[in-house]
Amino acid sequence: MLKKILFCFIMIINQTLFAQTQKDSISLSPKEKCIVVISAYAAQGNMNKLQIALNDGLNAGLSINEVKEILVQLYAYAGFPRSLNALNNLMSVLEERKSKGIVDASGKEPVISLEGRSILQTGTENQTKLIGKKIEGEVYEFAPVIDQFLKEHLFGAIFSRDNLDWRTREIVTISALASMEGVENQLRSHFGVGMYNGLSQTQLAELVTIIETKINIQRGIVAHQVLQSVISQKPYVKIENTDALIFEKGQKIDNDNFVGTAWLNQLIRSDSRNKIQVGSVTFEPGARTKWHLHPSGQILIALDGLGYYQEKGSPKRLLHKGDVVQCPANVPHWHGASPGQHFIQIAITNTQNGPTVWLETVTDEEYN
Ligand code: MN
Repeated sequence: MLKKILFCFIMIINQTLFAQTQKDSISLSPKEKCIVVISAYAAQGNMNKLQIALNDGLNAGLSINEVKEILVQLYAYAGFPRSLNALNNLMSVLEERKSKGIVDASGKEPVISLEGRSILQTGTENQTKLIGKKIEGEVYEFAPVIDQFLKEHLFGAIFSRDNLDWRTREIVTISALASMEGVENQLRSHFGVGMYNGLSQTQLAELVTIIETKINIQRGIVAHQVLQSVISQKPYVKIENTDALIFEKGQKIDNDNFVGTAWLNQLIRSDSRNKIQVGSVTFEPGARTKWHLHPSGQILIALDGLGYYQEKGSPKRLLHKGDVVQCPANVPHWHGASPGQHFIQIAITNTQNGPTVWLETVTDEEYN
């Protein structure tokens, strides 16, 4: 009886949470929904269901290399046996599809750039950047080698491979953890890391609902509880400490070159002698520019929150506080906030060869 009441109570919380956040955010893409199911079944070792999920993912447009990368990453969370079984499963799925005449895109091969650093150094930097702070813990002092392996194998070797972005990698990790028993502490931290890397509360609630409805209802209920506790603490979602901000927000931007709510504080205007203009732009979660280009280029400095930057034909980049971007002249691009966090940037724009040229709107699909 108590269990039943508890269950209903949780369902009500879940639905309220969902209703509140659904309005102001964008849902997971069809490909991302497939990634959730693939990661969950691979982590659970359910090969029959995985076979269906792999077919669905490929049908939704995931490339062979993307799926391979998902299953490889899972070794760090579910172990080599699960990862190897899943990869074998993928091999037979691909063979069967080929025999039916289905042509699946290979997709991008991963590139790893260590730039002369050791894999441990790279892993340490990636881990700090991914999580937003240095990781410490008693267990790492007790068994330092696990810290080294985490940094080398997971954050160095795996997270340096560029054919899945970090936000997508967090979808993989969270889906695997949510479908496994006894890893609620890790799930809790990864909900935070996911938000820090651009997943909104709505998208995480959606992910958990997929686990609940498609994978395992009990696991889904537990994951919803964990997510609810993370959201109520709001460790990453909103940056309330406005004392830390350097510039005033300025004026709300009311032209149609932006989607969502953004603010501009024009710090320097270009004049006849100085052709550089400088502005501080604050994007509320989900807000972004249209596609545009600068005839003489632009430099962006990320001051706060979590932003996106994308050049036409290239993958999106995540921008954390302190990141600097050099936008080349005449290359179409857009920038803005992630769905779950605001983003503040300083834009330094050279107007020597003319003002910004505004192009089409960034679609929800491109944004996601
Ligand atoms: Mn720009």
